[in-house]
Amino acid sequence: MTIQQSFPPPTDDAPAAEMPARVTPMMEQYLEIKAANPGLLLFYRMGDFYELFFEDAEIASKTLGIVLTKRGKHQGMDIPMCGVPVERSEDYLHRLIEAGHRVAVCEQTEDPAAARARGNKSVVRRDVVRLVTPGTLTEDTLLDARANNYLLAIARARASTGGDRIGLAWIDISTSEFIVTECATGELAATLSRINPNEAIVTDALYGDADLGPLLRELPAVTPLTRDVFDSATAERRLCDYFAVATMDGLSAMSRLEATAAAAAVTYIDRTQVGKRPPLSPPSREASGTTMAIDPATRANLELTRTLAGERRGSLLDAIDCTVTPAGSRLLAQRLAAPLTDSAGIARRLDAIAIFVADSAVRDDIRTTLRAAPDMSRALARLSVGRGGPRDLAGLRDGIFAADAALEQLARLDDPPAEIAAVMDALRRPSRDLAREFERALSEELPLIKRDGGFVREGYEAALDETRNLRDASRLVVAAMQARYADATSVKGLKIRHNNVLGYFVEVTAQHGDKLMAPPLNATFIHRQTLAGQVRFTTAELGEIEAKIADAGDRALGLELEIFERLCALAIVASEDLRAAAHAFAILDVATALAKLAVDDNYVRPEVDTSLGFAIEAGRHPVVEAALKRDGQPFIANACDLSPVPPPYPPPLAGEGRVGAGQIWLITGPNMAGKSTFLRQNALIALLAQIGSFVPASRARIGIVDRLFSRVGAADDLARGRSTFMVEMVETAVILNQASERSLVILDEIGRGTATFDGLSIAWAAIEHLHENNRCRTLFATHYHELTALSAKLPRLFNATVRVKEWQGDVVFLHEVLPGSADRSYGIQVAKLAGLPPPVIARAKSVLAKLEAQDRGQTARALADDLPLFAVPSRAAAEPAPPSEAEQLIEALKALHPDEMSPREALEALYALKAKLPKQ
Ligand code: ADP
Ligand code: MG
Repeated sequence: MTIQQSFPPPTDDAPAAEMPARVTPMMEQYLEIKAANPGLLLFYRMGDFYELFFEDAEIASKTLGIVLTKRGKHQGMDIPMCGVPVERSEDYLHRLIEAGHRVAVCEQTEDPAAARARGNKSVVRRDVVRLVTPGTLTEDTLLDARANNYLLAIARARASTGGDRIGLAWIDISTSEFIVTECATGELAATLSRINPNEAIVTDALYGDADLGPLLRELPAVTPLTRDVFDSATAERRLCDYFAVATMDGLSAMSRLEATAAAAAVTYIDRTQVGKRPPLSPPSREASGTTMAIDPATRANLELTRTLAGERRGSLLDAIDCTVTPAGSRLLAQRLAAPLTDSAGIARRLDAIAIFVADSAVRDDIRTTLRAAPDMSRALARLSVGRGGPRDLAGLRDGIFAADAALEQLARLDDPPAEIAAVMDALRRPSRDLAREFERALSEELPLIKRDGGFVREGYEAALDETRNLRDASRLVVAAMQARYADATSVKGLKIRHNNVLGYFVEVTAQHGDKLMAPPLNATFIHRQTLAGQVRFTTAELGEIEAKIADAGDRALGLELEIFERLCALAIVASEDLRAAAHAFAILDVATALAKLAVDDNYVRPEVDTSLGFAIEAGRHPVVEAALKRDGQPFIANACDLSPVPPPYPPPLAGEGRVGAGQIWLITGPNMAGKSTFLRQNALIALLAQIGSFVPASRARIGIVDRLFSRVGAADDLARGRSTFMVEMVETAVILNQASERSLVILDEIGRGTATFDGLSIAWAAIEHLHENNRCRTLFATHYHELTALSAKLPRLFNATVRVKEWQGDVVFLHEVLPGSADRSYGIQVAKLAGLPPPVIARAKSVLAKLEAQDRGQTARALADDLPLFAVPSRAAAEPAPPSEAEQLIEALKALHPDEMSPREALEALYALKAKLPKQ
């Protein structure tokens, strides 16, 4: 076996007791490579297996459920070992990555024969050819087709004036996307949840940071790296080196901090791919403020891409995703993660959907074409790092042909809007000659991997045809030889077979074996092997033919692999055009899918502008509606209007100077009435409108929302070990501190996590603050009926309630949202519906009657009258006096971290400090 060639068991010739000092040359090599790749499991290639040793073997055998064996001794101890067959290694890699491990793949880089030639004790040369980490995957089997796989680099610039900045760069090497941006530390959580990386890299210092460290450690995989990877002084040079340009100026405009993160990302990719540089798009810069800010809690609450239980099924994305290609699905997820804040960009997307809403024939044809179009960007990425196969080439071929088909179909559109016109331009870009060349070169049926050949079409290259003929002709000669031998030996069942150990051999059953081993036949037949039922021989003639066949076969394979490399190079040269076309397909997929959704589920085009308006007519919740539909239940549509009250203003508002801001709706109603559903549907409609989708309503007018906040009271966050109430308050604090006039805020039963009066008081004060200071459009659901008294004092606060009907002592939910407030909470009726025992229900009723006699509502109304509203301090008044110059200098000095600075940064910081000195 191959393993023996490079791994003579070290204990063969020496008793274990004498071993401690001796380390075999192979173990020496292993330990050296292992030491150079700390923190990674080492896949050490030995013949047809990747072997793991020591601790690695123990981890892998546990994670993969494979047998742990031992091999030889190291310093007197058994060496634990386990192995995975190379052929099935992708599957094992997948499971190790899933389990949070990273793997260094170490290959034999020379023929074992060459090592033997150097001397008996020589070890086959080996090198690590790739580090497999969660953020740097390209294999289809390792990737989720419908999701991007981002590697994110996070860099920090410590500002001497306070207010550190964070630079972010994220790359999907399986699609070549490369994006950079900058944000304040306070925005990091929202930005991370938007990007949703599969792996992040940071500096050791940032990883250990008291404030940001915990946030980073929540990411699925974080790798702290040494300072040099994040060195801003060498960033530009490393980027130029990667993109093989003299200056980055022509490729992309980046801040120094963004460039630092970008350089860290490409440096890490370089390290993991060990010299094979996957082509990347030049970093595109995402200007801050161009997307709707949505923090992680809001994303989770609204169940945008995953439900609270962590499933894709039941999420908004799942409900609206009618795309037919993985790339389209990825783009839709990207858009959903980052809704736009510019109305022109939104209108551009809406125009594209509108045209496919209008023309269902073209839409359906396009979707049929797309279904057959392969995932070009991922095929291309695999080919460029040398991990592609023949089917990836075929994918590009089919993709280009699909572009032609799509163009023909799009030509039927009368007046294509800008986004579709751009799609058409992109689809025209890839060279048609390239596709025709691939068409000529590739066989009908293609193997998955290129290793064994058999993918080049007959007639494509004369030299290949010739060697193949030679190989096949020799095979015919073998067949003739078998007939001849059978005749000569009069053994009818004589066969000529082939296997990898013996090559070609003659095989007869055991009963005929002796005959061939005796004269005269033994002059021709040389015995090789006796098995239980068969005896195997070779002949001189067979050996010759075998050499010829092997030679022709090798040459044919060599030629095929050459052709593969040639075609691959053609694809890589054309990669920019191919990527543009692939992206165009994704856009087309999203546009047609959202159009189909709009038609099937009755969505309308929203009117999005820069006002502070928010008026939804007959709005619906996309996910709840779909769920009810499956059960044959109707969804009751509801209107919502949070727009500033238009002039002429009614008496209590006129002349107040506060009428410009949006309204607050306070929604009361019993449990299960539909309050939470109503709140969320309005948030989702705003979000859908701003990703440029039609929305589930009969009409929607929405003034751009810059930030969306959604909070639910009493949501447990046990994973982070914070109590329910603490979580609720932390999240509420974020809103009260950050929501602007342009934000949309959804508060669902805030204050629930504590004793009644605490909770009520907090909810009360929060509403006053939202009304007076944040002045944002707000929906507030509550079970505290007392709060409805606030509408008397707060001019932009309106009470709404979800209607229920009492019928024969039971409660019937009508799910209709109307002006007014709930008179009671029907808790007991709901408890009855839930099946509480009748005596408990009866007793509860009598307790309630007693309590109601005390009438808490009265107290609340009195409170609303008593507390002067404008006791709420306004934002300006709450601000502390600006710090003196000396204080500013001290603060700036405190913020400096000399250990994290390069000499140049230190010098810059000195200048900045000096500039702060009071001028004489
Ligand atoms: P609440 O927050 O008032 O307790 P939910 O919003 O959780 O109520 O709604 C409870 C259930 O009522 C939902 O799961 C849904 O099945 C149903 N429901 C809510 N709103 C509607 C509606 N507009 N039309 C039909 N059914 C609805
Ligand atoms: Mg609720």
